[in-house]
Amino acid sequence: MENGLQGKKIINIIHNDNIRSKETSELLENKLKQYGYIISSEFDYNAELSICIGGDGAFLRAVHKYNFPYMPFVGVNTGHLGFFHEITPENINKFVENYSKGKYNIEDIYLVEAIVCTRTSCIELIGVNEIVIKGIESKVIHLNVSIDDDHLECFSGDGLIISTPSGSTAYNLSAGGSIVYPTLKTLQLTPLCPINSKAYRSLQNSAIIPDGMAIKINPEYRDENTVLIVVDGNQLKYDNVVEIIIKLSDMTLRKLTFHSQNFWSKVRDRFI
Ligand code: NAP
Repeated sequence: MENGLQGKKIINIIHNDNIRSKETSELLENKLKQYGYIISSEFDYNAELSICIGGDGAFLRAVHKYNFPYMPFVGVNTGHLGFFHEITPENINKFVENYSKGKYNIEDIYLVEAIVCTRTSCIELIGVNEIVIKGIESKVIHLNVSIDDDHLECFSGDGLIISTPSGSTAYNLSAGGSIVYPTLKTLQLTPLCPINSKAYRSLQNSAIIPDGMAIKINPEYRDENTVLIVVDGNQLKYDNVVEIIIKLSDMTLRKLTFHSQNFWSKVRDRFI
């Protein structure tokens, strides 16, 4: 297969502090060197591949730490859920052999982007799994939600999760959202403990938003004027947010796949 990646031989290996991850990293490094690869001592943005050893959490942290680099990622799972991961420590020899022969595919992971605007400035946030908007200190949050300027609801409850297809099996799933096949270019808007009473009316279920449509959220402040925005588990606090625009990012994350296990059997093995 011609992926345009052969020729460059530098690989990044990133591992968490778990002993199994460190041991796997050493074994992998030795194996890759036997095949003529150079393992960079520091993260190299010119590397042809980044291998992340740990669980999904380690994978997410690495992608954020290195700011969504262009080279593909692949994960080696050392004892966690490992939904993003294609490789186990037991099959690293097979992985190196297949990789060196170009026997792999590259899949795009769709990302979610939020533009968060206060009265004075706007910032951009990017998530792999999801962006969550919550109240602070466990307060009920009130959020006016529009899709492409079409007003949908004034949500009241714990918050809203806006998940990517890859993130649909994470927080979204625990909150009652649906599993979305990773090639579907959609976002999912999932309520967290929506209030449905004579005082407040909020949608109780998830909505699937197609690519090209933007979710516009305007907080309605009662006692507090601060919102929490949680990006892939990383919590950020903003005061006086007037508007949050959320859509699928134009950028994607690239991930190696080997078709060793298809998506639905992965779902079965991890969740049932
Ligand atoms: P974390 O401890 O790093 O992750 C929590 C669990 O979510 C771990 O078991 C992790 O797998 C798994 N996970 C992460 N991404 C996944 C995905 N795409 N599909 C299936 N499972 C996935 O927690 P964190 O640092 O707070 O946040 C990281 C992610 O955890 C967030 O992006 C969020 O989706 C998820 N989360 C879930 C809940 C919940 O379900 N109630 C609450 C908070 C956060 P590994 O064991 O392989 O790391």
